[in-house]
Amino acid sequence: MEKTFLMLKPDAVQRRMIGKLVQRFEEKGFELIGAKLMRMTMAQAEAHYAEHTDKPFYGELLEFITSGPVFAMVWQGEGVVAMSRLMIGKTNPLEAAPGTIRGDFATDKGNNIIHGSDSPESAEREVANAFHPEELLIFDPFLPKLEALHV
Ligand code: GDP
Ligand code: MG
Repeated sequence: MEKTFLMLKPDAVQRRMIGKLVQRFEEKGFELIGAKLMRMTMAQAEAHYAEHTDKPFYGELLEFITSGPVFAMVWQGEGVVAMSRLMIGKTNPLEAAPGTIRGDFATDKGNNIIHGSDSPESAEREVANAFHPEELLIFDPFLPKLEALHV
């Protein structure tokens, strides 16, 4: 099943938006299979943003993403990568449509609240960079007794 890596950035955690943002994806109907508050190490940040090494904002980006706790998540579902990107909105919050997360809650290109993988392949790499395999669980919410199984 398709998975994506979503990460609430330090600005979202500091602004106490974790609950509100998690709720959007729960209500949409995707399945949460892993989540934790963590602080990205510099090595993790460099690996996560490897494609941006040559960008002028790379240094600023690393500094920001390691500046405080992030809330890292793995979500699963058919089409979850593309739909999450739609729900997140354009990179520049000033261009992101109202109704999207960045469109509703941000104005700054750097401090844009949330990361979402841009492809299933990126997701696989980003999940492995932030989670141990045993931290990912699936469960059947319709069973009377919740049974967690490793993915
Ligand atoms: P995303 O996939 O929509 O998150 O966007 P990108 O992969 O293009 O960029 C990664 C992250 O780098 C963005 O989410 C922003 O936090 C940051 N970023 C992108 N462009 C800029 C910029 O022009 N200035 C600054 N300060 N940060 C930027
Ligand atoms: Mg990106």
